Amino acid sequence: RAKHEGGAQYRYFEEEMNRASQRRMTAERRIRDALEQDHVELHYQPQWYMQKKEISVEALVRIRDSEAGLLLPGEFIDVAEDTGLILDVGEWVVRQACEQMAAWRQQQLPVRRVSVNVSGRQLARADFVSVVQSAVEDFELQYDDLELEVTETILIGDADSAVKKLGELSALGVTIAIDDFGTGYSSLSYLHTLPFDLLKIDQNFVADLDSNPISSAITRTIIDLAKSFNKEVMAEGVETQQQLLQLQELECDAVQGFFVSRPLTSVQVTSFVRDFDPLQESKPN
Ligand code: C2E
Ligand code: MG
Ligand code: MG
Ligand code: MG
Repeated sequence: RAKHEGGAQYRYFEEEMNRASQRRMTAERRIRDALEQDHVELHYQPQWYMQKKEISVEALVRIRDSEAGLLLPGEFIDVAEDTGLILDVGEWVVRQACEQMAAWRQQQLPVRRVSVNVSGRQLARADFVSVVQSAVEDFELQYDDLELEVTETILIGDADSAVKKLGELSALGVTIAIDDFGTGYSSLSYLHTLPFDLLKIDQNFVADLDSNPISSAITRTIIDLAKSFNKEVMAEGVETQQQLLQLQELECDAVQGFFVSRPLTSVQVTSFVRDFDPLQESKPN
């Protein structure tokens, strides 16, 4: 009987594994198709620097799939990482973000920077710095038009080489942000080794800012930490006015989240920036 149950359990695991590998194969095919058919897209989420009265945007990748509709990163980034397709996707994202930024500059739209997420595997490629340099130069941008967001997971593996490349980019003038800050296990010990300009407080802390005293203590601590390093600090996942007010109280430099704006198409960014009230305040009528 035990043997029989074991068999049933085995079949169950086998089915689970089949489903998982099925999902991965489907995702892989969709990524390849999207790259070939030019169905990779960027959406841009505004980031509001409250004191400076500036808007930057974060580029967020999507896949426009003919059967499945719009796929979010959660549905394909892990597969892109495992298959190495992230290298092609990532290079496309850097170039597309730069091209779009150049178009906004052309329109004289006051977007301070465009920020691009970079995974460990992308940063690990030997030519990463030159991929970024080519994109900035080909679209005639300045290096300080561009920001790169990395998480501390880039330090898993060849940390020295990752730090060296970020240092080179930072020296060129690219802004370096540490994304999802506070979720890793070694958050503090590595900070002095990384060249960075901005800490992004993970959205989990922001989400229960008003209900969980531990989250608000952590948020406060990260803001103070950033200031003690003379760096800027941004809260992500800001969804309510209550959260915004608390973050203003704590003197957080910048906020990003649905309360300010959802991720937008490039066309929507133009009207968002033109109509965003807190930006107009500083301008003469
Ligand atoms: P992330 O870089 O931390 O980006 C923030 C994510 O939170 C985005 O999800 C955004 O749509 C979502 N978000 C923004 N505001 C709010 C809010 O107020 N509430 C909630 N609940 N969510 C909010 P998205 O676009 O699905 O991206 C998920 C993750 O995928 C990103 O997290 C980033 O790690 C990764 N990713 C996105 N684009 C790229 C890319 O081009 N390359 C790489 N390597 N990773 C990317
Ligand atoms: Mg990010
Ligand atoms: Mg984040
Ligand atoms: Mg995240």
